[in-house]
Amino acid sequence: MRLGIPRESVAGERRVALVPETITRLGDGVQVLVEEGAGEAAAFADAAYREAGATIGSPWEADVVAKVAAPTVDEVARLHEDQVVIGFLQPLTDHEGIERLARAGVHGFALESVPRITRAQPMDALSSQATVSGYKAALLAADRLPRFLPMLMTAAGTIPPAKVLVLGAGVAGLQAIATARRLGAVVSAFDVRPAVAEQVESLGATFLDLGIHGEETAGGYAQELTAEQQAAQRDALQDRIPQFDAVITTAAIPGRPAPKLVTAAAVRGMRAGSVIVDLAAETGGNCELTEPGSEVEREGVTIVGLTNLPSTMPTHASQLLSRNIASLLGLIVADGAVVLDWDDEIVSGACVTRKKVAAL
Ligand code: NAD
Repeated sequence: MRLGIPRESVAGERRVALVPETITRLGDGVQVLVEEGAGEAAAFADAAYREAGATIGSPWEADVVAKVAAPTVDEVARLHEDQVVIGFLQPLTDHEGIERLARAGVHGFALESVPRITRAQPMDALSSQATVSGYKAALLAADRLPRFLPMLMTAAGTIPPAKVLVLGAGVAGLQAIATARRLGAVVSAFDVRPAVAEQVESLGATFLDLGIHGEETAGGYAQELTAEQQAAQRDALQDRIPQFDAVITTAAIPGRPAPKLVTAAAVRGMRAGSVIVDLAAETGGNCELTEPGSEVEREGVTIVGLTNLPSTMPTHASQLLSRNIASLLGLIVADGAVVLDWDDEIVSGACVTRKKVAAL
């Protein structure tokens, strides 16, 4: 079986789908073809891939093509029928891209669609990349704040610790809480899923009770709040937000625009020099004043709406992603050949084009 690893072509994408270290874990029978310079931006040189047993060459004719971002129009034109393509294919939002892959006759495996069941945890690329985003969000907040995060007692006086609020305590939010705590901030957090209160507290943060309780889907995701609940949440937050120096927002509903949690009025209520890091910028932002893809100052508050934070830490983001992809390959490759077992709920769940439904 040949596995192709292209160089990512989307602007700003520095990750690579497979790192040299993972090649040795793929086992005999898998020949890896890496496009020249594919790992360069993530600090993995071609020489390291060669040393690990890969060949530098065209990845597009391989039986399985694994990449980070969904293939572009030009890239899809290089694919052929019956290939397997693995990547963040955005099945819930990029319908055109999915149709294009379907027309090309490839089996598209979307990393976002891997069911979040215990057996699939090693393949959970949403979680591995959200871990990177959450960590980086806390660092960005610390960096942009014009003050210390920890309490300091110095001869020049005592500095109180910064107060950080994390909205949305899923994978990214919990990592942001842990990182801000390690830096010495006093952290509070809120999520609509009441079940996470315990996790928040176990990290040494306080769960903010806004009196709003949402529902959880079978997959563990939050269900979208009703319009009344959303309005009540915005009002409750508007009163609380001015007490914080930094707000990190991570609230998301799969396939839906990000819920608006922080109003312009709430931003106006914050002290000058405060910071908002909006991890939901990619899907429109949790803050009304976020400008996706940029960092702006509004009402004296710095609002960081940078997107694709995992790409800003490409070495470790790629290493984790690479292990996720290798685990998924372990399910669809047997004895050096692609074998798609449609009875396996992970295989049928992750496949978004040319999927065959298992017989009942
Ligand atoms: P996500 O990125 O979809 O959402 C981030 C968080 O935003 C979630 O915690 C969600 O509850 C919250 N949220 C949504 N609307 C909100 C609102 N209006 N206000 C405040 N918060 C809001 O979620 P995620 O981080 O990908 O993970 C969600 C769940 O999946 C978690 O329960 C996690 O433990 C679970 N999970 C399970 C597995 C597994 O078992 N394999 C793996 C990873 C995650």
